[in-house]
Amino acid sequence: MTVKNVTVAGSGVLGSQIAFQSAFKGFNVTIYDINDKTLEKAKQTIQNLSDIYTEEISEQQKTMDKVLHGGVYNPNFLPDIKIATFNELNDDLKSIKHAKDIISFSSDLKSAVSDADLLIEAIPENVEIKNNFYEKLGKVAPSKTIFATNSSTLLPSMFADITGRPEKFIALHFANQIWKNNTAEIMGHSKTDKGIYEDVVQFAKDIGMITIELKKEQPGYILNSMLVPFLSAGQALYAKGVADFETIDKTWMLATKAPMGPFAILDIVGLKTAYDIVSNHAKDDPSFQPLADMIKNEYIDKGKMGIAAGEGFYKYPNPAYTDPNFLS
Ligand code: NAD
Repeated sequence: MTVKNVTVAGSGVLGSQIAFQSAFKGFNVTIYDINDKTLEKAKQTIQNLSDIYTEEISEQQKTMDKVLHGGVYNPNFLPDIKIATFNELNDDLKSIKHAKDIISFSSDLKSAVSDADLLIEAIPENVEIKNNFYEKLGKVAPSKTIFATNSSTLLPSMFADITGRPEKFIALHFANQIWKNNTAEIMGHSKTDKGIYEDVVQFAKDIGMITIELKKEQPGYILNSMLVPFLSAGQALYAKGVADFETIDKTWMLATKAPMGPFAILDIVGLKTAYDIVSNHAKDDPSFQPLADMIKNEYIDKGKMGIAAGEGFYKYPNPAYTDPNFLS
């Protein structure tokens, strides 16, 4: 099946990015969320993403300009590159405008999915919320609709049956800041149809992702199988009072030459999702509970939700870890 119409459920950190990137690449996109108030917020998030994309492309144009007019460019070498690249970047700027105009918003699930070829679910990382959602969705979505979960840590087989269409259910997992961290991990479960798997791989390629195809189910896919334990290890050090979070980040950055440590990454992830993941772990392993409580009491309850809120562990737009003195 060729995917044309995409509905994204959940307009938070990841849902808004998935929706915008899909529209940017020419798909018809509808965003669904629980109520109109949340959708009003989503419209602002889409505007912010549009500004970020414009800024990124303008930066690329400036770099091109430096190359072309700063004496680095040899016009005898690939003479058409200048026009081609400028045209592509200008087309991208037009696509941003188109993306903003083409996204529609709905808080009515039935109408939001009425013509969806693909529904991408990006609602909270909570089994009960996802179960309730898929139960309702399965009843109102047309039979053609493929369902894909963007869950970071939960397995598609946990929800496959409740969707009522296990063969059309799959996981499609994006990394945060999708426009530059452009991986899409695709993971079926034992009942996912092979053709559906291929359709989803093709869709991910069509929206500009590098596809990572998993051969079997794995909680956390490839990325989060490594990232979540890393982030939890950093958080545990902080929760136990071993060091402050800046010291933990600094240690990682100095020792590995990484641009960020775990707490800077958590700010990008968003502290609500970080909290959901740690709370899920705490159900199996109570030693995670103080960590969950710390994130809730010290950050979420104080409105420090991460980079999107202007403050999480760090304050934005100029977080301390980007200051050259931070590593001294
Ligand atoms: P978020 O908290 O930023 O957004 C969740 C959105 O879902 C909100 O807009 C909320 O109003 C909406 N919502 C809540 N209940 C709903 C329902 N019943 N139906 C429809 N919408 C509902 O969360 P997020 O960080 O965007 O994470 C969403 C999903 O994406 C999670 O499964 C998470 O694991 C996954 N994910 C997150 C990241 C990340 O870095 N934040 C990366 C990859 C995957």
